[in-house]
Amino acid sequence: MQNASRAASATAAALRNHPRGSVPSLRVKLTVYYLAILAVVLLLFGVAIYLFLTRSLLAIIDNSLDAQASAIERRMISGTGEVSMDEPPFASEQLPLSLHLSQLISERGQVTDEMVVKPSYHLEVDLQALNRLPWGRTQVETYYLATGEPLRVATRRARDADGDTYFLRIGESLEPLRRARQRLLLVLSIAIPAALLLGSYGGLLLANQALRPVDRITRAAEQIGAGDLSERVPVSSRMDEIGRLAATFNHMIGRLEAAFERQRQFTSDASHELRTPLAVIRGDIEIALRRERTVEEYQRVLTSSLEEIIRLSRLVEDLLTLARADAGRTQLRCEPISLDRLCQQMVDYISPLAQQREQTLTYSAPDKDVFISGDLQRLKQLLLNLLDNAIKYTDFYGTITLALRTEPNEAVIEISDSGRGIPKVDLPHIFERFYRRSRPTGDKSATGFGLGLSIVKWIVDSHGGRVEATSEQGKGTTFTVRFPLLKVVEKEVAVGV
Ligand code: ADP
Repeated sequence: MQNASRAASATAAALRNHPRGSVPSLRVKLTVYYLAILAVVLLLFGVAIYLFLTRSLLAIIDNSLDAQASAIERRMISGTGEVSMDEPPFASEQLPLSLHLSQLISERGQVTDEMVVKPSYHLEVDLQALNRLPWGRTQVETYYLATGEPLRVATRRARDADGDTYFLRIGESLEPLRRARQRLLLVLSIAIPAALLLGSYGGLLLANQALRPVDRITRAAEQIGAGDLSERVPVSSRMDEIGRLAATFNHMIGRLEAAFERQRQFTSDASHELRTPLAVIRGDIEIALRRERTVEEYQRVLTSSLEEIIRLSRLVEDLLTLARADAGRTQLRCEPISLDRLCQQMVDYISPLAQQREQTLTYSAPDKDVFISGDLQRLKQLLLNLLDNAIKYTDFYGTITLALRTEPNEAVIEISDSGRGIPKVDLPHIFERFYRRSRPTGDKSATGFGLGLSIVKWIVDSHGGRVEATSEQGKGTTFTVRFPLLKVVEKEVAVGV
C-alpha cells in the first residue's frame, strides 16, 4: 500500500510538472488525422473527376469525328453532294462539331480539297503513314500545331462516286477541352483547400465536442486526487463510452476508497491491539519493581508477562500473514494434498486442547481419499484456526465434529460444534479483520484478536475455494469449506497377516 501511494504521488507530481504544450493534445491529433484522411479523399476525388471528365469528353469528340467522317464518306460514295463540314449527323454521345479542318487527299498524297478555319490548321501529308491506314476504320490522334494548340484529327480511307480512293481527314481543335480542364483544375484547387479549411474547423469542433466530457472527468479526477476519495465524477445519464468511463472511474475510486479505509482501519486496530498487552506488561513490571518482591511474586509477574508476550507474538504473526497476503507476496506452494490424512493429523494434534475442556472431538472420514491441490502449511493453519475456534467457543463437555466429504467437483470440510453459536447480526462480519464478538469461555490466554477467520478466508480464497458459516445461537456453529476437487482415490487397505 505504501508503494501504491508512493506511485500515486509520483504520478500526480509527473502530471503537475508535465509541460502541457510539449505533447500535442488528443483533440489536435484527432483533427490532424481527420484532416489527413479528408485531404487524401478529396485529392483522390479530384484526380478521379479530372481523369473521368477528360477521358469522357475526348471519347465524345472522337465518336463525333468518327461519325462525321463516316457520314462524309457515305455522301461521297452516293455522290449526293460536296464534302461539307456544316452538316454533321449526330446522335447521343456525339457532338454537332463545326470542324476546324477538313482535307481530301488523293492516293498520291495531294490535297485535292481543303477547308481550314485558320491557315495554322493546315496539316502536312505523310503518305507513308496514310497508306498504313486500314479500310473501313477511322484513326483518331492528336496533333500539336506550331502554336501549341492541340488538334484532334480523324483520318479515314474513302471512295467517291467514281470509285477513286481518297484519304479523308477532318480535325477539331481541343482548345475548348484544354480550357475546360484548366477551369476544372482551378475550381478543384480552390475547392479542395476550402473544404480542408472547413473540415479542420469542423474536425476541431467535433473533437472538442467529443472530448469535453473527458475534460470534465479529468478536472473532477484532479479534484478527487487533491481532495478526498469520497468525491465522485459526474456520470451522465447516457451510458455511452464516456458514461461508462465515468462509471468505471467512480467504481475504481470506490474500491480505492474502501481499500484505503480498510488499510487505515487495519493499522489503527493493529496498533490498538498491540498497545493494550504492552501496557499490561509494562504496568505489571513497573509495579513489581517498585519494591522488593518474593520469588513467587516475581514468578507470577513473569508468567503473566510471558502469556501476554505469547499473545503478542501470535498477533504479530497473524498481522504479518495478512500484510504479506495484501501485498501479494505470499506464494502458495501447491501440491496434491490428501485431505483425509491432513484432517486426521490436525484432529490428533488439537485433541489435547479438547480433552482439557472435556470435549468430544470426532472426525468422520469418507470411504475414499480426497485430494486437492494446496499449500500444506496454509491448509494446516486453516484447519487449526477453525478447530481452535470451535474448541474455544464451545463450553466444557461439548462436542466438535470434523467431517470430510465430496460433492461433484468439490471437496467439502465441515467443522461443527455444539457451542454458544453466533448471533445473526454478527454472522456477516465474522470474516472481517479484528471482528470479535465475545470473549471465549475459559482462560484469558485463549483470547483472540479477531484475525483467525480473516486468515481462514484468505487461505480459502487463494485456493479457489469458498467458506461459509451457519450458526444457531445456543446450539452451535458449522463452518463449511469447499475446495476444487483434484481427485478421489480408493483408500489403501492394510492387509493383516
Ligand atoms: P478470534 O481470534 O477472536 O477467535 P476469529 O477471527 O477467529 O477471531 O473469530 C472472529 C469471531 O467469530 C470471534 O470473536 C467469535 O465471536 C466468532 N466465532 C468464530 N468461530 C466461532 C465458533 N466456532 N463459535 C462461535 N463463535 C465463533
